[in-house]
Parts: sequence; structure tokens; C-alpha cells
Amino acid sequence: MQLRYRFRLYPNGPQRAALARAFGCARVVFNDALRVREDARAAGLPFVSPAELSKKLTGAKKIPERAWLAEVSSVILQQSLRDLDTAYRNFFDSLKGRRPKMGPPRLKSKRDTRQAIRFTANAGWKITNGGKLRLPKVGDVTVKWSRTLPSAPFTVTVIKDSADRYFASFVVETSPEEVLPPTTPEVGIDLGLGHYAVLSDGRKINSPRFLRRAKKQLKKAHRALSRKEKGSANRNKARIKLARAHARVADARREFHHQLSTTLIRENQAIAVENLAVKGLARTRLAKSVHDAGWSRFTAMLEYKATRYGRTFVRVGRFEPTSQVCSACGVKDGPKPLHVRAWACGACGTFLDRDINAAVNIAKAAGLAVTARGAQIRPGLVPAQRDEAGTHPKPHPTTARQAGIVLL
Ligand SMILES: [Zn+2]
Repeated sequence: MQLRYRFRLYPNGPQRAALARAFGCARVVFNDALRVREDARAAGLPFVSPAELSKKLTGAKKIPERAWLAEVSSVILQQSLRDLDTAYRNFFDSLKGRRPKMGPPRLKSKRDTRQAIRFTANAGWKITNGGKLRLPKVGDVTVKWSRTLPSAPFTVTVIKDSADRYFASFVVETSPEEVLPPTTPEVGIDLGLGHYAVLSDGRKINSPRFLRRAKKQLKKAHRALSRKEKGSANRNKARIKLARAHARVADARREFHHQLSTTLIRENQAIAVENLAVKGLARTRLAKSVHDAGWSRFTAMLEYKATRYGRTFVRVGRFEPTSQVCSACGVKDGPKPLHVRAWACGACGTFLDRDINAAVNIAKAAGLAVTARGAQIRPGLVPAQRDEAGTHPKPHPTTARQAGIVLL
């Protein structure tokens, strides 16, 4: 399978200027090609083929107003045309109902927060013996190699984000040797708002402290920006600071997702999660919490790591509310208000923890071999929490490490 590996880049002054030129050229080519197609459509002419666009691009370099396109690697301009084709294909597929609804490709702006260019294998880029990234018409750029690449990459995308940071995103092919030796545990996961995740084996995992700290910094940066006068130099500085704080939260979250998903994949042979209709949820008042939690990114990570390491990943369709069924005897005894965190099953008498019971039910619905034991608790262990009803529960003081999960 193919995976992306992202590393921070530290281009020097002239390299930053060369990259800015490349981003600009890629954008102009994208926009020019988009206009050509839109004009054709408005004139009732057939869809302009990729080959025709490519020919127009070659011709454009000979026009004085577009001569500067020759100053950057021609590969990234070709890739820009390919990006436009992908955008059109996705749009057409969405019209045919083959993927979620989306708009037609739009013009790219200089003010877009994310700028990117892609170099394919034939672009003549390489990783030098000294560990720098050699980019055509840019130079040897310093890379912070935070991890090792599992194999030689074949394409690299250079990205500049809204916090003015540069990244190289490599696409590599993983090898089948990465499959882990089989293990026996199988686990169901309930993704919730109280704990980040609750496992059918009884463990509860919170968002880590570093993520909560990063969120606090984000709030502060937000307030600082709102106090600055519009159009002032200080406001621009505050804007970059805010973008950096956003980036730190995103990084911290990604790091947490990576650690937790890797641990779960290593420990378990099979993993089941509930297929949350996240989009439906996001429109409700839970929106903020849902986006914060980033469940879909996390489950996507679990899914690709399961494939990569030879584990089983199951998404359970939305079935009957997990709190209504006893995971021990299977009796359905009706809905329970949110503040009820634990109860005794009226049929078999088992004391059940709401979240763990849900995780066990998810595992069972996926056909995994988990026992209901994890859902059982001794009476009196979980006190009623009055302040939780209907509101976002307060973060629990234990960390994932304390809950017995060793984050890798
Ligand atoms: Zn029961």
C-alpha cells in the first residue's frame, strides 16, 4: 500500500523565493487551464482534454507574459494540470452520485492558506547523500528527518501552510514484511465525548495533556488577535501566531492519533469501531466537540495501519443504541438518560458501565470474540455525576498512560 510521510523543511532565503515562484506558477497554470475549460463550456464547446491543455501550456511559455513559467520545473506545472483533472473527475463523480456532493473546481488564490507543488519521479528531485532534499530549480533544502522512510519515495509534494511552515510529503510503497505476528486479543472501541476512547477490555483513554495545553494556547492566540486593530502590522503578527497555534494543535492531535492507533494495532488482532455518521452529528450542537475529537481521522488511521500490519479492522454500521442492550445477556431494556453512567441489568443483574458496555456491544456486532466481562463493574465504583447531564463532560484527570496504555 502507499503511504505519505511528512517532514518539516527549512528552506533558506533564496530557496523560499524559488518556492514562492513555483507555487505562483503552479497556481497560474491551474487557473489558466480552469478558465480555458470554463470558456469552452460557456461557448457550448466540448470538454477540453488534458492533452490539449498540455499543448497550450507548452505554447504559453513562448508568450512573453507567460515566459516566466520556464523558470520553474515543468513537472510541477504538468502536475498542476493533473490536479485540475482530479478536481473535475471528483466533481463529475459527485454529480453522478458516486461520491459526496461537491462544487466544481475553483480558481486558486494567492491568499489560499495552503500552497503546494508536486514533483514526480521524473522531475529529477532526490535526497542527497548529505540528507538534503534536492529540488529542481530550487536547490538543496534542509529536512528535519523525524522518522525513517520505510522505502525509497517516488513522489514528493512541497507544502507551505498558513503558519508559513514548509513540509515535504513523500509517497512511499510499504513492504509486506511489515505484517506483525498474529496475536489473540480483539477489541471494540467506543469513541465518546467524555473519554476520547473506551475499550471493550475496560480501559478508558483521555486526550493527552499536551493536546489540552495546545488548545489553551490556541484560545489565548484567538483573544490576542481579536484585540488587534484591523489592517495593522500587529494584527498580521497576531494572525501568524494564531495560525501557528492552530498548527500546534493539529500536530499534537495527529501525534496522539498516531500513538494511540499504533498501540491498539500492535496489541490487538482485530479492532471494531462504530461507523459514526460524523457529518450528521457535526450539524448539531455537538459540532465543536466532534470536530475536536477528529474521530474520522483517527479511525482512518486505524484502518490503514490494520491493512499495513495485517490486522482486521471492522466498521460497525449504526445499529441499535449501544446503551440499550446489556452486553452480558443481550436483553434490551430501553434508553437511559445521559447522566446514567452505570446501571444493573434488570434481566441478569450484571452491573454495567455505560461506555464499556457500548464498546463491548460494538465488538460483538462486529463478530469479535470479546467477553462481556470488561463491561462489568462492582456496584458503587462509578458515582453518579450530576454535572454531566446533557453537557460536555469535564476531562477526566487520568491520562492514557495511567489507564494502562503505553503510548509508543
Ligand atoms: Zn443482562
